[in-house]
Amino acid sequence: MSNKAVKVEDVKERTWTDSIGSSVWGIGIMAVSGLVIYFGKVVLPANLVHTFKLIAVLGLILGAAIVAVAMFQAQHVDAKPTTPFKCPFCDGTNYFFGTPTADFDCELCARTIHFEDGSMVMVRTIICQACRTEHRVPMNIQRYVCDRCNRPLKLSTDITQKVAVASNAQNEAMQHQYDVLLVAFDRRHENATAMKIQNIMTVNLVDARKILASASETAPIPIAWGEPLRKAEALRRQFEELGATVSVRPSDAGTPSSSSHG
Ligand SMILES: [Zn+2]
Ligand SMILES: [Zn+2]
Repeated sequence: MSNKAVKVEDVKERTWTDSIGSSVWGIGIMAVSGLVIYFGKVVLPANLVHTFKLIAVLGLILGAAIVAVAMFQAQHVDAKPTTPFKCPFCDGTNYFFGTPTADFDCELCARTIHFEDGSMVMVRTIICQACRTEHRVPMNIQRYVCDRCNRPLKLSTDITQKVAVASNAQNEAMQHQYDVLLVAFDRRHENATAMKIQNIMTVNLVDARKILASASETAPIPIAWGEPLRKAEALRRQFEELGATVSVRPSDAGTPSSSSHG
Protein backbone atom coordinates (compact mmCIF):
# COMPACT_ATOMS: atom_id res chain seq x y z
CA MET A 1 0.00 0.00 0.00
CA SER A 2 1.42 3.37 -0.92
CA ASN A 3 0.99 6.57 0.97
CA LYS A 4 -1.69 8.83 -0.45
CA ALA A 5 -0.44 11.53 1.83
CA VAL A 6 2.81 13.15 0.82
CA LYS A 7 5.48 14.59 3.02
CA VAL A 8 5.67 18.38 2.89
CA GLU A 9 9.45 18.16 2.83
CA ASP A 10 9.34 16.00 -0.30
CA VAL A 11 6.89 18.29 -2.09
CA LYS A 12 8.89 21.38 -1.17
CA GLU A 13 12.06 19.81 -2.39
CA ARG A 14 10.48 18.82 -5.71
CA THR A 15 8.79 22.19 -6.18
CA TRP A 16 11.99 23.98 -5.33
CA THR A 17 13.95 21.96 -7.89
CA ASP A 18 11.23 22.50 -10.50
CA SER A 19 11.07 26.22 -9.75
CA ILE A 20 14.80 26.64 -10.10
CA GLY A 21 14.73 24.67 -13.33
CA SER A 22 12.01 26.79 -14.91
CA SER A 23 13.43 30.03 -13.50
CA VAL A 24 16.74 29.29 -15.25
CA TRP A 25 14.82 28.93 -18.51
CA GLY A 26 12.87 32.14 -17.88
CA ILE A 27 16.00 34.13 -17.06
CA GLY A 28 17.76 32.65 -20.11
CA ILE A 29 14.97 33.74 -22.46
CA MET A 30 14.98 37.19 -20.88
CA ALA A 31 18.75 37.51 -21.30
CA VAL A 32 18.65 36.54 -25.00
CA SER A 33 15.74 38.94 -25.58
CA GLY A 34 17.63 41.70 -23.83
CA LEU A 35 20.67 41.13 -26.02
CA VAL A 36 18.55 41.26 -29.18
CA ILE A 37 16.93 44.53 -28.11
CA TYR A 38 20.21 46.09 -27.11
CA PHE A 39 22.49 44.95 -29.94
CA GLY A 40 19.90 44.25 -32.66
CA LYS A 41 20.44 47.64 -34.30
CA VAL A 42 24.14 46.93 -34.72
CA VAL A 43 24.19 43.31 -35.91
CA LEU A 44 20.89 42.79 -37.74
CA PRO A 45 19.97 43.93 -41.25
CA ALA A 46 17.89 47.13 -41.00
CA ASN A 47 14.70 45.56 -42.48
CA LEU A 48 14.64 42.81 -39.78
CA VAL A 49 15.38 44.93 -36.72
CA HIS A 50 11.76 45.81 -36.11
CA THR A 51 10.52 42.17 -36.27
CA PHE A 52 13.30 40.87 -34.03
CA LYS A 53 12.68 43.60 -31.47
CA LEU A 54 9.02 42.61 -31.31
CA ILE A 55 9.93 38.92 -30.80
CA ALA A 56 12.48 39.94 -28.16
CA VAL A 57 9.91 41.99 -26.23
CA LEU A 58 7.54 38.99 -26.28
CA GLY A 59 10.48 36.86 -25.11
CA LEU A 60 11.07 39.22 -22.19
CA ILE A 61 7.43 38.97 -21.18
CA LEU A 62 7.44 35.16 -21.54
CA GLY A 63 10.66 34.83 -19.49
CA ALA A 64 9.27 37.06 -16.74
CA ALA A 65 6.02 35.05 -16.74
CA ILE A 66 7.91 31.74 -16.35
CA VAL A 67 9.87 33.11 -13.39
CA ALA A 68 6.69 34.51 -11.84
CA VAL A 69 4.84 31.17 -12.16
CA ALA A 70 7.81 29.32 -10.64
CA MET A 71 7.88 31.69 -7.69
CA PHE A 72 4.13 31.45 -7.26
CA GLN A 73 4.27 27.66 -7.18
CA ALA A 74 7.04 27.63 -4.62
CA GLN A 75 5.03 29.99 -2.43
CA HIS A 76 1.81 28.11 -3.00
CA VAL A 77 3.36 25.01 -1.39
CA ASP A 78 4.30 27.07 1.65
CA ALA A 79 0.76 28.36 2.00
CA LYS A 80 -1.03 24.99 1.67
CA PRO A 81 -2.50 23.57 4.90
CA THR A 82 -0.43 20.72 6.35
CA THR A 83 -1.09 17.89 8.78
CA PRO A 84 1.45 17.49 11.58
CA PHE A 85 2.35 13.89 12.43
CA LYS A 86 4.30 13.17 15.59
CA CYS A 87 6.99 10.52 15.23
CA PRO A 88 6.41 7.86 17.91
CA PHE A 89 10.14 7.22 18.15
CA CYS A 90 11.67 10.70 18.49
CA ASP A 91 8.55 12.85 19.09
CA GLY A 92 9.65 15.01 16.17
CA THR A 93 6.95 16.40 13.91
CA ASN A 94 6.67 15.43 10.25
CA TYR A 95 4.34 17.52 8.10
CA PHE A 96 2.05 16.03 5.47
CA PHE A 97 -0.37 17.05 2.81
CA GLY A 98 -3.13 14.67 3.80
CA THR A 99 -2.94 12.06 6.55
CA PRO A 100 -0.35 9.29 6.19
CA THR A 101 -1.71 5.72 6.01
CA ALA A 102 1.36 3.73 5.00
CA ASP A 103 4.94 3.24 6.15
CA PHE A 104 7.23 6.24 5.93
CA ASP A 105 10.62 7.25 7.28
CA CYS A 106 10.77 9.97 9.89
CA GLU A 107 12.37 13.14 8.56
CA LEU A 108 14.19 13.67 11.86
CA CYS A 109 15.34 10.27 13.13
CA ALA A 110 15.15 8.27 9.86
CA ARG A 111 13.33 5.38 11.54
CA THR A 112 10.46 3.74 9.71
CA ILE A 113 7.02 4.38 11.12
CA HIS A 114 4.89 1.32 10.39
CA PHE A 115 1.24 1.21 9.44
CA GLU A 116 -1.22 -1.66 9.49
CA ASP A 117 -4.54 -1.34 7.68
CA GLY A 118 -4.06 2.39 7.41
CA SER A 119 -3.34 3.13 11.03
CA MET A 120 -0.04 3.54 12.77
CA VAL A 121 1.40 0.60 14.66
CA MET A 122 1.71 1.85 18.24
CA VAL A 123 5.07 1.95 19.92
CA ARG A 124 6.06 0.73 23.36
CA THR A 125 9.07 1.34 25.52
CA ILE A 126 11.29 -1.58 26.41
CA ILE A 127 14.39 -1.77 28.55
CA CYS A 128 17.34 -3.90 27.54
CA GLN A 129 17.90 -6.29 30.42
CA ALA A 130 21.64 -6.29 29.84
CA CYS A 131 22.52 -2.58 29.55
CA ARG A 132 19.29 -0.97 30.84
CA THR A 133 18.93 1.21 27.73
CA GLU A 134 15.38 2.22 26.89
CA HIS A 135 14.15 1.64 23.36
CA ARG A 136 10.94 2.50 21.61
CA VAL A 137 9.80 -0.35 19.42
CA PRO A 138 6.66 -1.06 17.38
CA MET A 139 4.08 -3.18 19.21
CA ASN A 140 4.04 -5.82 16.50
CA ILE A 141 7.60 -7.06 16.79
CA GLN A 142 8.89 -9.82 19.06
CA ARG A 143 12.58 -9.39 18.51
CA TYR A 144 14.84 -6.38 18.63
CA VAL A 145 18.59 -5.89 18.65
CA CYS A 146 19.74 -3.43 21.31
CA ASP A 147 21.76 -0.86 19.41
CA ARG A 148 23.71 0.00 22.53
CA CYS A 149 25.05 -3.41 23.50
CA ASN A 150 24.16 -5.35 20.32
CA ARG A 151 22.35 -8.08 22.17
CA PRO A 152 19.38 -9.66 20.44
CA LEU A 153 16.38 -9.09 22.70
CA LYS A 154 13.26 -11.16 23.02
CA LEU A 155 10.25 -8.97 23.73
CA SER A 156 7.58 -10.12 26.10
CA THR A 157 4.13 -10.55 24.59
CA ASP A 158 2.86 -8.89 27.74
CA ILE A 159 3.16 -5.22 26.81
CA THR A 160 3.30 -4.12 30.43
CA GLN A 161 6.51 -6.12 30.75
CA LYS A 162 9.12 -3.50 29.92
CA VAL A 163 12.28 -5.46 30.53
CA ALA A 164 13.38 -7.37 27.43
CA VAL A 165 15.64 -10.32 28.10
CA ALA A 166 18.58 -11.16 25.93
CA SER A 167 17.49 -13.99 23.68
CA ASN A 168 20.64 -16.05 23.85
CA ALA A 169 20.51 -19.83 23.89
CA GLN A 170 21.09 -19.94 27.64
CA ASN A 171 18.09 -17.80 28.42
CA GLU A 172 15.90 -19.68 25.97
CA ALA A 173 16.91 -22.96 27.60
CA MET A 174 16.29 -21.54 31.07
CA GLN A 175 12.73 -20.80 30.14
CA HIS A 176 12.19 -24.45 29.47
CA GLN A 177 13.75 -25.80 32.63
CA TYR A 178 11.96 -26.47 35.85
CA ASP A 179 12.80 -27.01 39.49
CA VAL A 180 10.91 -29.46 41.67
CA LEU A 181 10.44 -28.40 45.28
CA LEU A 182 9.20 -30.47 48.17
CA VAL A 183 6.77 -28.53 50.33
CA ALA A 184 5.34 -31.23 52.64
CA PHE A 185 5.12 -35.01 52.93
CA ASP A 186 2.76 -37.59 54.36
CA ARG A 187 4.18 -39.21 57.55
CA ARG A 188 2.46 -42.47 56.68
CA HIS A 189 4.74 -42.72 53.62
CA GLU A 190 7.83 -41.30 55.27
CA ASN A 191 10.05 -44.27 54.42
CA ALA A 192 9.03 -44.51 50.81
CA THR A 193 9.36 -40.74 50.35
CA ALA A 194 12.81 -40.68 51.94
CA MET A 195 13.90 -43.52 49.68
CA LYS A 196 12.68 -41.65 46.63
CA ILE A 197 14.70 -38.60 47.66
CA GLN A 198 17.67 -40.86 48.28
CA ASN A 199 17.41 -42.08 44.71
CA ILE A 200 16.83 -38.77 43.01
CA MET A 201 19.37 -36.74 44.94
CA THR A 202 21.90 -39.56 45.38
CA VAL A 203 22.25 -38.99 49.11
CA ASN A 204 22.18 -41.60 51.89
CA LEU A 205 18.97 -42.43 53.71
CA VAL A 206 19.96 -40.45 56.82
CA ASP A 207 20.44 -37.27 54.78
CA ALA A 208 17.27 -37.99 52.83
CA ARG A 209 15.33 -38.10 56.14
CA LYS A 210 16.94 -34.80 57.22
CA ILE A 211 15.88 -33.23 53.94
CA LEU A 212 12.35 -34.51 54.44
CA ALA A 213 12.20 -33.14 57.97
CA SER A 214 13.30 -29.66 56.97
CA ALA A 215 10.81 -29.24 54.14
CA SER A 216 8.04 -26.77 54.86
CA GLU A 217 5.72 -24.38 53.08
CA THR A 218 7.94 -21.42 53.88
CA ALA A 219 11.14 -23.25 53.02
CA PRO A 220 10.47 -25.80 50.29
CA ILE A 221 13.43 -28.04 49.53
CA PRO A 222 14.58 -28.32 45.92
CA ILE A 223 14.86 -31.99 45.10
CA ALA A 224 15.51 -31.62 41.37
CA TRP A 225 16.37 -28.64 39.23
CA GLY A 226 16.96 -27.69 35.59
CA GLU A 227 14.70 -30.50 34.40
CA PRO A 228 12.49 -30.41 31.32
CA LEU A 229 8.82 -29.90 32.18
CA ARG A 230 7.84 -33.49 31.35
CA LYS A 231 10.41 -34.90 33.78
CA ALA A 232 9.56 -32.36 36.48
CA GLU A 233 5.85 -33.20 36.19
CA ALA A 234 6.63 -36.92 36.35
CA LEU A 235 8.55 -36.38 39.59
CA ARG A 236 5.69 -34.36 40.99
CA ARG A 237 3.26 -37.18 40.24
CA GLN A 238 5.54 -39.76 41.87
CA PHE A 239 5.69 -37.70 45.07
CA GLU A 240 2.00 -36.93 45.07
CA GLU A 241 1.26 -40.65 44.93
CA LEU A 242 3.08 -40.81 48.26
CA GLY A 243 0.87 -38.03 49.64
CA ALA A 244 3.59 -35.37 49.42
CA THR A 245 3.08 -31.79 48.28
CA VAL A 246 5.46 -30.72 45.56
CA SER A 247 5.71 -27.55 43.52
CA VAL A 248 7.16 -27.24 40.05
CA ARG A 249 8.38 -23.86 38.88
CA PRO A 250 10.56 -22.48 36.06
CA SER A 251 14.24 -22.63 36.92
CA ASP A 252 14.83 -18.90 36.70
CA ALA A 253 11.79 -17.92 38.74
CA GLY A 254 12.66 -15.78 41.72
CA THR A 255 15.94 -14.72 40.17
CA PRO A 256 14.80 -12.26 37.50
CA SER A 257 18.13 -10.45 37.36
CA SER A 258 20.17 -13.30 35.96
CA SER A 259 22.63 -10.79 34.54
CA SER A 260 25.53 -12.65 36.11
CA HIS A 261 25.52 -14.88 33.03
CA GLY A 262 26.50 -12.05 30.75
ZN1 LIG B 1 11.50 10.26 14.39
ZN1 LIG C 1 21.47 -3.34 25.56
